[in-house]
Amino acid sequence: MAYLFICFVPLLIFFGTITTAIENYFEADRRKTMLTTANIISGSVSRLGYFDHLADADARRYLDVDLNARSRDGGFRILVFDSGCMALSDSNGLETGKTLLVPEVITALQKKTGYSLRRPEKAVYAAAAVENGDAQIVGAVLLVSSVDDIFTSVSDIQQKLILYAALAAMVMIVLVLGASSLLIAPLKNILKVVQRVAEGHFSQRVTVKGHDEYAKMGRAFNEMTEKLEKSEKSREDFVANVSHELRTPLSSIKVLSESILLQEAVPVDMYREFLRDITSEVDRMTYIVSDLLNLVKLDRQDTTLNIAKTDLNRMLESVLKRLSPLAEEKHIDLILESNREVTIDADEVKLSLAITNLVENGVKYTPPEGTVRVAVDADHQDAYITVSDTGIGISEDELPKIFDRFYRVDKTRDRETGGTGLGLAITRAAVLLHNGGIRVVSKENEGSIFTVRVPIRR
Ligand code: ADP
Repeated sequence: MAYLFICFVPLLIFFGTITTAIENYFEADRRKTMLTTANIISGSVSRLGYFDHLADADARRYLDVDLNARSRDGGFRILVFDSGCMALSDSNGLETGKTLLVPEVITALQKKTGYSLRRPEKAVYAAAAVENGDAQIVGAVLLVSSVDDIFTSVSDIQQKLILYAALAAMVMIVLVLGASSLLIAPLKNILKVVQRVAEGHFSQRVTVKGHDEYAKMGRAFNEMTEKLEKSEKSREDFVANVSHELRTPLSSIKVLSESILLQEAVPVDMYREFLRDITSEVDRMTYIVSDLLNLVKLDRQDTTLNIAKTDLNRMLESVLKRLSPLAEEKHIDLILESNREVTIDADEVKLSLAITNLVENGVKYTPPEGTVRVAVDADHQDAYITVSDTGIGISEDELPKIFDRFYRVDKTRDRETGGTGLGLAITRAAVLLHNGGIRVVSKENEGSIFTVRVPIRR
């Protein structure tokens, strides 16, 4: 509608102006010819000296004949007045001898010419004064001509223009409808897919053609849905993993308790052993649940960090102290290498959890008599904590996956070491919350080096 309006209004204005201009042009032209003719006739009337011989009937007849001939030729009516506004001659013969107060004639008697276009009558009145030999105004010649022809041709033109305008409007309507459906069709297509995605069908994609804005929008939308689909998939995987991880200890507990229940006269020792096993399965579930809670807390969008000045060297000392019994059990050397004193802005609890997981892994995945070394260093903007071990290492294929939730390289072995597969996921989440990063290099059977970078100032 707006397009139509914008196209149509100027067209109407243009057509309106054109018709008025044409009418004005014709009228001005007519005015000029009529006034010129009136002047010529008045000139010849005065030259022939009709007014000097008005009493002479012959002269008057002669005048009438002459004027009638001119009137026939020109297609207009000619009247001649004396200075008292009395019609001396009328080519129609109707008004001869009458006194008529014609405004144009009165003007001509005063100012030499008088003119007007009388719209209701559709006629022009052109009057020119007649002078005698002494340049005195003695009368006037009045020409009355119909302008019906002008009005007819203008209205002809008007009709044609209206026809053109109607045609143009029709063409415009077709074009506007075509263009708008062309513009709207891709949007409708995108909208349909958006609605499907909103209903939860994340596999829906927009078909993208070309390189215009719609294609860009379609591509961006597709990228977005891809991410949505991925995150939906990882959520589903996560739930499946959690259930799976919790089901394993639950079925062990069930098997253990059933086997006692089914036996009669079970010796006390056996009870004890089975109960110990059950307890360790419950412990395992507790680990998993507390790890999960940690991870969920770190993953939440609105997680807030309790940032404070943290003495990194002290923090690492206490982490190592807590883990030293574990290391001693396996006769592993646990070494802290403080290259310099580093104090950073950090949430000590969360960062300490992250490093604990790394050191714990180092100890877990290093055979007895090995070494786990924790080093701390800094440059002008970042602190670096390196945890290196002389353990079993991680193969190149596995490296990209070890930070995934519940990912464990060797499932059976990890059941023994008590890993949940959540430790590194927790570590990474905590480090990312500190705007830091984590990298790992590892070689199978030689060892691994995990490097955590945390900005010193937030
Ligand atoms: P887990 O609780 O099983 O240790 P993590 O997320 O901490 O889970 O680690 C994921 C996997 O990465 C582990 O199962 C292990 O196979 C491997 N991994 C982690 N740290 C080391 C390491 N220092 N040396 C060798 N393998 C490691």
